[in-house]
Amino acid sequence: MATDYRIPAHKLVRPDKDRFLDEENPFEAMMSRFDKAAELLDLEPGLYKVLRQAEKQVIVSIPVMKDNGEVEVYEGYRVLYNTSRGPAKGGIRFDLQVTLEEVKALAAWMTWKCAVVNIPFGGAKGGVRCDPQAMSAPELEKLTRRYTSGIINMLGPDSDVPAPDVNTNERVMAWVMDTYSMHVGHTVTAVVTGKPVELGGSLGRREATGRGCMIVTKEALKHLGMPVKGTTVSIQGFGNVGSVAAQLLAREGCKIVAIGDRSVSLHNAKGIDIDDAIAYAKKHRSLEGFDKADKISGADLLTLDVDVLLPAALENVITTKNARDIKARIICEGANGPTTAAADSVLDENGIFVIPDILANAGGVTVSYFEWVQDRGGYFWPEDLVNERLETIMKRSFEDVLDLSRQRRVNMRTASYMLAISRVASVHRLRGIYA
Ligand code: NAD
Repeated sequence: MATDYRIPAHKLVRPDKDRFLDEENPFEAMMSRFDKAAELLDLEPGLYKVLRQAEKQVIVSIPVMKDNGEVEVYEGYRVLYNTSRGPAKGGIRFDLQVTLEEVKALAAWMTWKCAVVNIPFGGAKGGVRCDPQAMSAPELEKLTRRYTSGIINMLGPDSDVPAPDVNTNERVMAWVMDTYSMHVGHTVTAVVTGKPVELGGSLGRREATGRGCMIVTKEALKHLGMPVKGTTVSIQGFGNVGSVAAQLLAREGCKIVAIGDRSVSLHNAKGIDIDDAIAYAKKHRSLEGFDKADKISGADLLTLDVDVLLPAALENVITTKNARDIKARIICEGANGPTTAAADSVLDENGIFVIPDILANAGGVTVSYFEWVQDRGGYFWPEDLVNERLETIMKRSFEDVLDLSRQRRVNMRTASYMLAISRVASVHRLRGIYA
């Protein structure tokens, strides 16, 4: 039985505090998909045991002297799930709800995600349980540097390469990179991705995940014989992934009829002007008050009669409670884990074509890979080249998964796990077990 590292619900202050209360354990939810795919692949028992375990799990204690002179101690985690295909890759999140189980699940997800798009990385994730909204910039910098120092022996361009995740950004990555560089005595830009462009970040990285969602949504429409022009889309989450996906899909001719963020959900059957909504959200820091669409409930946004539903906010929003009410023909999972494992079969029964998270949102890690390559080569690409190479990888990966799903008569999620696991397994077979 895994230790429950969650903090008591009554101590959580975020509006979405209930999201863990009646859900699956994130690691087990991910592993139930893994098990299904492993069985279909007839994975040897030894490899099954190897791939079901994280390679390394580290817990660090992070003392921080706060601005008021008091010392607070935070807990941080870094999990390297599997590094057989290359350096570990995965974000760092700062959040009150970070748990070791969650970090482990996300690290495994990263392993399968990198393998689906066939980039030479393993999977990792990190996190610190803290409330970054309640911390000043100097406190956040101290927290970041001490956490980095605590995991310094794991980090490195050849071993473990973090990136931003929930509540971390370019600025935090710059601190991680600087701390690492100070420890080793010279500047090492390739130790993190998602950095500011001035520090070796890649053009196109910020938009990469939303762009990847747009590309695979178009591929799914093509596969189902549906036109792109006039396709109706509902999008949950209007942050980095949701707003960019909305903007790019609108540019392709789709009609974005619903958008929503933490503050409000909005609907306009005639289509929402996304450039307008982005400008509004930037100015007001949320969509609250945007008056060119009608307010609807967050639950209704998910069950609207649209062609495409694009959840790009939280995990576990499509569950057995609402899956039967979903009318979209396609779900493009911009968020990580928006669908519970138990809801998968309901979506299948209703003939909904799901582009699973490990494929749909892999655009971000793909351009992170480009950033790492550019840093190591010391030669930087123009944005159109980044976008062109991203499109090639996303289209090829969609095709690979679709081909396997047709061959094995399984849904896209199972096919993507089968493809990823078979790629990781084949590397293990070639490398053997070091003893
Ligand atoms: P973000 O913080 O930029 O945006 C999150 C959005 O979700 C915000 O608009 C927020 O208001 C909204 N939101 C939060 N709680 C909500 C709720 N209860 N109901 C409706 N909306 C809510 O985050 P992001 O980078 O866009 O990431 C979104 C998801 O995509 C996460 O699951 C993340 O793990 C995943 N993802 C992101 C990337 C990336 O490159 N940014 C890559 C892969 C996966």
